[in-house]
Amino acid sequence: MSADIGVTGLAVMGANLARNLARNGYTVSLHNRSVARTDALLEAHGDEGSFVRTETLAELVESLERPRRVLIMVKAGAPVDAVIEDLVPLLDEGDIIIDAGNSHYPDTRRREEALRAKGLHFVGVGVSGGEEGALNGPSIMPGGSQESYETLGPMLEKIAAQYHDEPCCAWVGTDGAGHYVKMVHNGIEYADMQVIGEAYDLMRSLAGLEPTAQAKVFREWNTTDLASYLIEITSEVLEQEDELTGRPLVDVVVDSAGQKGTGRWTAISGLEVGSPVTAIAESVFARSISSQRDLRAETNAAFSSGIDENAPAAEFGSDFVEDVRKALYASKLVAYAQGLDMLVAAGQEYGWDLDLKSIASLWRAGCIIRADLLDTIMKAYDADAEDRPKNLLLAEEFTEAINECLPAWRRVVAAAAQHGVPAPVFASSLAYYDSLRRDRLPAALTQGLRDYFGAHTYERVDKDGTFHTLWSGDRSEIEA
Ligand code: NDP
Repeated sequence: MSADIGVTGLAVMGANLARNLARNGYTVSLHNRSVARTDALLEAHGDEGSFVRTETLAELVESLERPRRVLIMVKAGAPVDAVIEDLVPLLDEGDIIIDAGNSHYPDTRRREEALRAKGLHFVGVGVSGGEEGALNGPSIMPGGSQESYETLGPMLEKIAAQYHDEPCCAWVGTDGAGHYVKMVHNGIEYADMQVIGEAYDLMRSLAGLEPTAQAKVFREWNTTDLASYLIEITSEVLEQEDELTGRPLVDVVVDSAGQKGTGRWTAISGLEVGSPVTAIAESVFARSISSQRDLRAETNAAFSSGIDENAPAAEFGSDFVEDVRKALYASKLVAYAQGLDMLVAAGQEYGWDLDLKSIASLWRAGCIIRADLLDTIMKAYDADAEDRPKNLLLAEEFTEAINECLPAWRRVVAAAAQHGVPAPVFASSLAYYDSLRRDRLPAALTQGLRDYFGAHTYERVDKDGTFHTLWSGDRSEIEA
């Protein structure tokens, strides 16, 4: 029997994607470096659909209908290159290799270019939703050639999450665009989680709201503009009681956040393409600081006085909780605005014509950042190119929302600073908004300083040209 697609790499993600494909009626050839995993999958789930067992890549390739589609789901990095190297001699022109792991987009661009030269299609696919999503419907962000999407697209759309019958899967752009969009998704996810953490910390530290009380607050917030998967699961985590101690689970979990690297990649790429993704970068740094436990302990001991950390809870009642909700929403909007801006900047850098409306639609189900907000974001970009907002904050709906949240946002950032509660994303998002909004920035002084020590020149507001002041001479101005 010819299989529709082959999957190599049958750890949790590959196994679940293979099962998802089979459950959707496709015949799936299975391969894993160690055959035991293949057999374990067949043993546990072989009756879920049509599977072909293979032991070698040659057998896998042999079992496929043409053009062949081989989905690689192995550990990101060198293993992907190793599998590609073994696959290439077995494939023919027009066959498609799909990498659905968390590969770094420069690797995907490199692999796509090399394989294109050999007449093969290489499709880097961003997949979000974890194990559960891979099995029941992830958000899928495919890159690669448009031609390969014609054959591959219908399959991916069928196994993707569905949002009101629309698949959360669409071709996003050539070569590494799929993995890039997935990376930015993860960057936004970092910021989304960090702002939730900041809201929790402020309500706990200043308003004295215990985790179980906050679970109710977040549940309530999930009926507002903030409605999203992450807000929903926050209430579940906060109300979880530790089996061992009976305390809130959140109080017995070590306060060092882990990271696998996609947030860091996003922040680095933001710097590279010149896009100020401050909310994402601050979220990555917040995790890094949380991991510096020894330094934190020493600093805690060294600076235990001087900050009013015991603010009277009476000052921070229900009005404060509503202020925090608004600060959270405004900061979240900034994180999305920055992430989407970054996509545009990367598109210009790498030659991708990314459609922000379509990308927002892919994130509406199946992935971690799914949120009602995405519908509004789609509306914001549902216009002819010249009428689209230059930045999400300039879309009418969001300009109104920011104006509505602004006084509360400022109060919350001020209270955080006043009482020593770190709120790096609330604060930096507000600074981003203020920087964009201001008529004049102190960058004029920066230019003056650069001209003073390095003759870097400056432009004037009142006439064309490039100028330099003779700082070490008579301080007259010359045209450079
Ligand atoms: P792992 O990342 O743990 O990788 C294990 C798999 O890779 C096994 O099948 C293993 O084979 C195979 N492998 C490792 N090295 C090689 C090699 N040199 N040659 C051939 N095969 C190799 O598996 P996961 O299922 O957790 O993740 C797969 C991919 O999906 C990764 O890129 C990961 O980052 C990504 N991922 C995505 C998530 C998401 O939400 N989108 C969530 C989790 C992961 P063997 O059994 O023989 O050791």
